Amino acid sequence: MNTLNRQYLLAHRPEGPLRESDFEYREASVPTPGPGEVLTRTLYLSLDPANRVWMGPLPTYRPPIGLGEVMAGFTLNEVVESKDARFRPGDLVECQGGWQDYAVLPADALYKVAPRGPLSHRLSVLGVPGQTAYFGLLEVGRIRAGETVVVSAAAGAVGSITGQLAKLHGCRVIGIAGGPEKCHWLTTELGFDAALDYRAEDFPQRLAAACPEGVDLYFDNVGGAVFQAALFQMKPHGRIVCCGSVSIYDTDTPPPRLLGVPGLLTLRRLRMEGFIVFDFHDRRKQAEQALAGWVAEGRLKVREDIIDGLQNAPRALMGLLHGANIGKRMIRVAPEPSGKP
Ligand code: NDP
Repeated sequence: MNTLNRQYLLAHRPEGPLRESDFEYREASVPTPGPGEVLTRTLYLSLDPANRVWMGPLPTYRPPIGLGEVMAGFTLNEVVESKDARFRPGDLVECQGGWQDYAVLPADALYKVAPRGPLSHRLSVLGVPGQTAYFGLLEVGRIRAGETVVVSAAAGAVGSITGQLAKLHGCRVIGIAGGPEKCHWLTTELGFDAALDYRAEDFPQRLAAACPEGVDLYFDNVGGAVFQAALFQMKPHGRIVCCGSVSIYDTDTPPPRLLGVPGLLTLRRLRMEGFIVFDFHDRRKQAEQALAGWVAEGRLKVREDIIDGLQNAPRALMGLLHGANIGKRMIRVAPEPSGKP
């Protein structure tokens, strides 16, 4: 085992767009687990738009990352040493190991997983993005066959799965994404009925033309101008699932005031509901089973954007926030264990 633990710490609270200098690199020694704790080694580190929000000063569903603390992040780790009877060296666990090679964590904070398909799927289709799409669309959005569904950040981790699940459930699906390459992928590979580039000047008109009868469900991953355009296309009694607002995470400029909130909600009798995927944590196995089944049947495609090397995490997160990824972006921190079946 290595004796060096590479870590990235939060050096500054970002002001405006994230910079590499907001992170500090440190080499520490590998920590030792105490009673009830487990030493784990990071295999994959998930990069999530929410990481940027956690770096700010305000609490979300978790407290802000403290200055000088290891950057927080969801990870897939391998157990190296355990002081808890439930875990053994070699076990694979999902956890919040953060931006480092090794983490000592309380055993209660680990979720043991059996390898099923590629290990990286634990952070994409079977992990937070897949679960978010599954519960957000089916439980919060309550989609029905025949409905028109619009999904933003559609070529990203959550959006690409959300759109495919809506297709699987018999909906007409329109994806919104940045640029022709992403839009082409959505329609040719993932089976979306249409895909629109929100950077086009006439995007609101194109969206209206793509949904001549209006939108039953808008799955909002971005907020801001895209939300604004979708709001005006909602059908009476339509639903908006508020999943995230990535358009405003990496800026200090306040978002422009939205027109039609709350007036249009009233006039069109709209329902708008937010959720956090952890609200459904006790049902995660149900989602895993369904998602793994669709992947195995070839009905759900998984695209991952895996970048090698922990040293690339800061730049990779900066890129994610501005659309450099297609599918789920993550860092391969260490090679997969050779004992993998
Ligand atoms: P993605 O893989 O979708 O990556 C983020 C994407 O956001 C980029 O690829 C970019 O794609 C798009 N984007 C960036 N800026 C803008 C902008 N100004 N306008 C429109 N799109 C923009 O990330 P995730 O799938 O992990 O997350 C998607 C959303 O889901 C986020 O808002 C996230 O916070 C939320 N989320 C919510 C959860 C919950 O529990 N509620 C759980 C997990 C995620 P493009 O090139 O198309 O611009």
